[in-house]
Formats: sequence, structure tokens, C-alpha cells
Amino acid sequence: MNSYLEKVLNETKNKNCNEPEFLQAVNEVLSSIKPLVEKHPEYEKIALLERMVEPERIISFRVPWVNDKGEVIVNRGYRVQFSSLIGPYKGGLRFDKSVNQSIMKFLAFEQIFKNALTGLPIGGGKGGSDFDPKEKSDNEIMRFCQSFMTELQRHIGQDVDVPAGDIGVGAREIGYLFGQYKRIKDAYEGGVLTGKGLSYGGSLARKEATGYGLIYFMREMLKANGNQSIEDKTVTISGAGNVAIYACEKAQQFGAKVVAMSDSQGCIYDKDGINLDTIKQIKEVKRGRIKEYLEYHPNAEYLQRENEDSPIWTIKTDIALPCATQNELTLNSAKKLINNGVIAIGEGANMPTTQEAFELFINNNILFAPAKAANAGGVATSAIEMSQNSMRYYMTFEEVDKKLETIMTNIFNSCKKYAEEYKLGNNYAAGANLAAFDKLAEAMKAQGIV
Ligand code: NDP
Repeated sequence: MNSYLEKVLNETKNKNCNEPEFLQAVNEVLSSIKPLVEKHPEYEKIALLERMVEPERIISFRVPWVNDKGEVIVNRGYRVQFSSLIGPYKGGLRFDKSVNQSIMKFLAFEQIFKNALTGLPIGGGKGGSDFDPKEKSDNEIMRFCQSFMTELQRHIGQDVDVPAGDIGVGAREIGYLFGQYKRIKDAYEGGVLTGKGLSYGGSLARKEATGYGLIYFMREMLKANGNQSIEDKTVTISGAGNVAIYACEKAQQFGAKVVAMSDSQGCIYDKDGINLDTIKQIKEVKRGRIKEYLEYHPNAEYLQRENEDSPIWTIKTDIALPCATQNELTLNSAKKLINNGVIAIGEGANMPTTQEAFELFINNNILFAPAKAANAGGVATSAIEMSQNSMRYYMTFEEVDKKLETIMTNIFNSCKKYAEEYKLGNNYAAGANLAAFDKLAEAMKAQGIV
């Protein structure tokens, strides 16, 4: 690593020593941009990296609400407005009990690079709360969302900061958040949130976009490496949420056989191929547990999760798609996947692969689609939703899907171009970091010391 990069990494570690996820994300980016930093010695004089790893602003706030028993609960809310370099802050809201400042900062940092890769004018942000939406009634969810938005509204706006969904925040939550925003502002600012319902300004294909985009990226990656295809490949997908469900749908449309999906408690293995209608019924309608799949398909198997290694990665597969959460694919799991002959990994979740597992995949020549490129379809389609809101116009599903496909193909091509230009073979993770950093660094240099 060059001396400037090393200095910034050490300073970042010292300043943020209690934020492991954030440091992991910064380390991952800084360790792959050496060629560009060496090509541009002027970056050090303008403290470009120091500014890139420091959020423009972090907002943390109290979220008091009353549960159905009449008890007062206090959660903590966050919005990390990391970078407005190339557009308004943009990134989802996560409601999960694991949420803390480190996780918010890592997600917002990743988002800057991801958004730059889309080629669209969007900056990087992320937010959320340590509120756990599991087993809450609709009314509790609504009261929480209203309280959360009562504070958040003063910090966001369609040209300032545009949140969307993430873990625990789907169409229902976005609806309640939007309703409260509109009520307080007394104006219809459609573009202030994305992932909205179709009846009030949402975009067709937004719900499908992250999962579909992941499969479009995977298709391009397989094609570029020995002209392989997704058809007839066996696929396992962790998670059973928004990203996992629509990755499954597109993989099946492309002729793959998806044999396993999971949630935080365990995974189901259906050797005949997952029935996605059943998963949608359990997860999107009933909001139940994946184990209930066995009630509909008794021939499937359920593997309970016993420790940090999800049982899904012990199942033999050609393509593994981690689509649940950060650091869910460990070194142990990576070894199992490689021993079982995996050929490609596609990150649907953000930073789902630990650093050690990632290195093992790269050293074993396993094709690797990195999150910040491969799951960028969601935010890209959010930007398309913002455009439709500004134009007061709706595009058809096919129009949006076509744009998504083009964007994902372009993202893959820029990862490939940068990886090849800097002699990194098919290390698309490094290619993604270099491509995004190149664009961001030039914008930062042009805008002066801000
Ligand atoms: P959802 O809330 O819809 O689904 C999350 C899924 O992951 C659920 O099945 C959940 O299971 C599982 N999960 C959550 N925590 C854990 C855990 N600790 N271990 C194992 N499984 C877990 O979220 P999304 O599908 O929207 O998001 C999934 C990932 O994709 C996240 O990393 C998110 O940041 C990323 N992402 C999402 C985008 C989007 O458009 N939605 C865009 C880009 C990235 P359970 O129900 O048991 O908790």
C-alpha cells in the first residue's frame, strides 16, 4: 500500500476504532485504489482521501413512540449524509435491532461508490433505526414511522436527501413515512422518498430492481468469462426479502434452478427447485418464517441455523447469491462453497462476504460480483423513480426494466474495463472501486476544498 493510503487508513482507524463495519468498508476501498492514487499525487495535497472517508454530516435523534400496550418505547434514529459530491444524498433506511452508527456509516460509504457506478446524479447516504419491526402490529409500525419522520423531515428533501427502503423497510413503511412527511410539509414532494407505492408516485419495476439487476450483472459476468450462461445452473440465495425474492424470480426466468433460500433462523432446501409463489405468500403476504415452506412442500428440507455460519452455504451449488445482510458469508462458508464446486458469487446484500472469504474466492479464481456494482440496480431505479416524479410522468414496466438492464450492463463493463486497464484480471471488486473512485475524485478536485 502506498504511504498516503496507509496514513489515511491509520488515521481512519484511530478516529473510528469502535466502528468495525465502517473500517472494513473503508479498508476494502482504499486497498484497491493504489494505482489511481499514485497516478494523481495532487490528491494528497488537497486531502482528498481524508475528505472522502469523513461524512459531511451525521444526524442522530430520539424516536419515542407508544406500543399497543400503552408503553413508551425510545429508539435511536440515524441519517448519515456522507457525500453530496455528485447529487443529493441517496440511500435507504434500515430498521433492524442491529443498527448502530458503524453499520450506518459503512452502508453510507458504500453507497457513495455504488451510486457513482450507476452513472446517475446521486450522492451517498444511509439511515435507519435500532427499531425491530418483527412481531409488531401494523399500528405500531405506523406510529414508529410517524415519529421517525417527524424528526427526519427537517433534514431531507427531493433536492437534498432522498431515502428509500432497506432491511425492515418495505412498501408499507415507505407509505407511512411518506404520509407523515406530506402531512408536516403540507406539500406533495413526490421525489422525497423512493420505493413508493404505485398509486402515489412509485415506479414500476422498483420492487424487482435490485434482484433483477443482480442477475443481469451475473449474466454479463458469466458471458465475459468463457461465454457461460445462467441457464441450467444451480443457484442458492440467502435471505427471503426484497432482494432475494426478485433475484430468484429473474434467475428462474433465465432458466436457473434455485434450490435454497433462507431467513435469519434457517434455510430451506428444495431439490426440485424453490416454488417462488410459496415464498412470496409466506414472506410478502403473511410476513411469516421460511420454515413454513415445509407446510406447502413437505418434500423440502429445513436446516436450522446453529451459529454464525448459515447452513445454506453447505449446499452444493454453481452460483451462490448472498442477499441477506453484512458479513453473512464467512471464511468457513467460503471453503465449503469452493469444495462443493461453486463457480460464481453474486453479492445482492451489502458487504455480505467477509474480507477473508472474499480473498479466498479471488485466490481460487471464483468469479465474484461485488455488492457495490452488482446490487446497484435498486438505487439506479430509485433515481429513475425520482426522474419520473420530476417529470410528473410514468414509464411502463418494460421501459424501466430495459433501462435497468442497460445500466447493469454498463456497470459490469466499467468494472471490467478498469480491472483490465490496471492488470487485475477479472477482479471486478477492484475494478468497481477504481471506476467509482476515478469519477468521485475528479468531482472532488473540481469542487475545491469543501
Ligand atoms: P428485507 O428486509 O426485505 O430482507 C432481509 C432478509 O435477510 C430477510 O429474509 C431476513 O430474515 C434476512 N436477514 C436479516 N438479517 C439477517 C441475519 N443477521 N442473518 C441472516 N439473515 C438475515 O431486506 P432487503 O432484501 O431489502 O435487503 C437485503 C440486503 O440487500 C441488505 O444488505 C440491504 O442493504 C441490501 N440491499 C437492498 C436493496 C433494496 O433495494 N432493498 C438495494 C441494495 C442493497 P429475517 O426475516 O429472519 O430477519
